[in-house]
Amino acid sequence: VRARVMQVDQSPDVSYQDIGGLDDQVSEVRETVEMPLKSPEMFDEVGIDPPSGVLLHGPPGTGKTMLAKAVANQTDATFIKMAGSELVHKFIGEGAKLVRDLFELARQHEPSVLFIDEIDAIAAKRTDSKTSGDAEVQRTMMQLLSEMDGFDERGEIRIIAATNRFDMLDRAILRPGRFDRLIEVPKPDETGREQIFKIHTRGMNLAETVDFKSLAAEATDASGAEIKAICTEAGMFAIRDDRTEVTEADFRDAWEKIQAEESDDEVSKT
Ligand code: ATP
Repeated sequence: VRARVMQVDQSPDVSYQDIGGLDDQVSEVRETVEMPLKSPEMFDEVGIDPPSGVLLHGPPGTGKTMLAKAVANQTDATFIKMAGSELVHKFIGEGAKLVRDLFELARQHEPSVLFIDEIDAIAAKRTDSKTSGDAEVQRTMMQLLSEMDGFDERGEIRIIAATNRFDMLDRAILRPGRFDRLIEVPKPDETGREQIFKIHTRGMNLAETVDFKSLAAEATDASGAEIKAICTEAGMFAIRDDRTEVTEADFRDAWEKIQAEESDDEVSKT
């Protein structure tokens, strides 16, 4: 059962070229995760330790998981993913053991990239209420910290964590030797959005007139995941209309539909 919660992917199929609008973030990840795996001798010769853990933070659907997968792909490392929420909610009382198993799995699959999504689920600031659930979360986090403290920085395991709620994190996990390199992954700007449109329409049959510049200008505030959804939905509009070519109007209709669905969600949440 445990093996199923920890996702192991020998060769993730994401490359840096699939990531739009995050040039600085890609460079940082290459420097902090790829370099130590590919050229550990550089760090030995210079005499410094690479960062122990890298923390990606930013809104949902902006490409954090993609970055971690791409670096694993580039280094031929095994990609191992686990969500913080699963560590504490799936098997009550087993969080600390799962963390130990996770590091053991990473050691067995060296070189490996260990990706812990939703790290906030186990590393949120302490609340005042001392419920038993909190104690369990605390134990899980202590186990993670102790695995990291006893970690060989120059070894063949790299740890990447991600969160959408940076402000909620317990600062203890950001100390030196832990997640000591922070990389912010924001929503894309206009140029980034245009790139992401182009990436997700690579395989699509497009009408010649589709202008991604103006679509990118209109889809303000869209995340990468939302742009991907716009592209798929645009294709659906073409299919409903019995066309095989996707037009710019299809993309506009798709964005409107997705926005309408999102505002419905907002209403139903309140
Ligand atoms: P979450 O915080 O919700 O886990 P995330 O930041 O990890 O989100 P991803 O899982 O990397 O987001 O992105 C979801 C999907 O959205 C990706 O599989 C990809 O198709 C698309 N996407 C997101 N960001 C980008 C981007 N910068 N370039 C291209 N595609 C993107």
